Amino acid sequence: MTRLIFLGPPGAGKGTQAKTLADFLHIPHISTGDILRQATKDQTPLGIKAQAYMDAGDLVPDDLVQDMVQERLQQPDAEVGWILDGFPRKVSQAEFLGQLLAENKQGDVKVINLDAPDDVVITRLLARGRKDDEEKVIRHRLDIYRDETAPLIAYYTHLQQLISVNGNHPPEEVATVLQNIIAH
Ligand code: ADP
Repeated sequence: MTRLIFLGPPGAGKGTQAKTLADFLHIPHISTGDILRQATKDQTPLGIKAQAYMDAGDLVPDDLVQDMVQERLQQPDAEVGWILDGFPRKVSQAEFLGQLLAENKQGDVKVINLDAPDDVVITRLLARGRKDDEEKVIRHRLDIYRDETAPLIAYYTHLQQLISVNGNHPPEEVATVLQNIIAH
């Protein structure tokens, strides 16, 4: 049973690697960014509320994402394990998740910190060209990452759950490193 959280700055390759590893392990890849983008596309009540935050590169309020993640983790396909990509993104969300998993006796989670330098992630994000990948918004997302998300590295190190992986290598190499980590 594999339960993994992927941490890292936007552009570190989290989404690509989380998806590849989840397919390899036959477990669901749960990306909060993907779920939120689909919700905005479908103009669901959640999507309508989340849209302005996402366009600005701000975090969507905790109660919205937390309800969304809780509901997703209760789906039957998540019983065999999962990879969470994009959640938690701040300490309050990590505390919420920790409590939720403890209640379900699922505390045995590993956290992969996929890191890459700022210049690398900025170049990658500019090349990607998503709606929120304009340079000003990218820099804002990186600031938010540094202020809100990076403290989770210390948080999960303290809980002895953190494994750091260098994302500044070709995707196939990073994928192999991740598969080896999971096998051990
Ligand atoms: P990236 O990996 O480039 O940061 P994501 O697809 O993970 O992009 O997220 C895109 C946007 O979705 C974020 O900028 C934020 O607005 C919103 N979002 C995703 N996950 C969360 C979360 N856990 N808490 C708050 N907002 C979130």
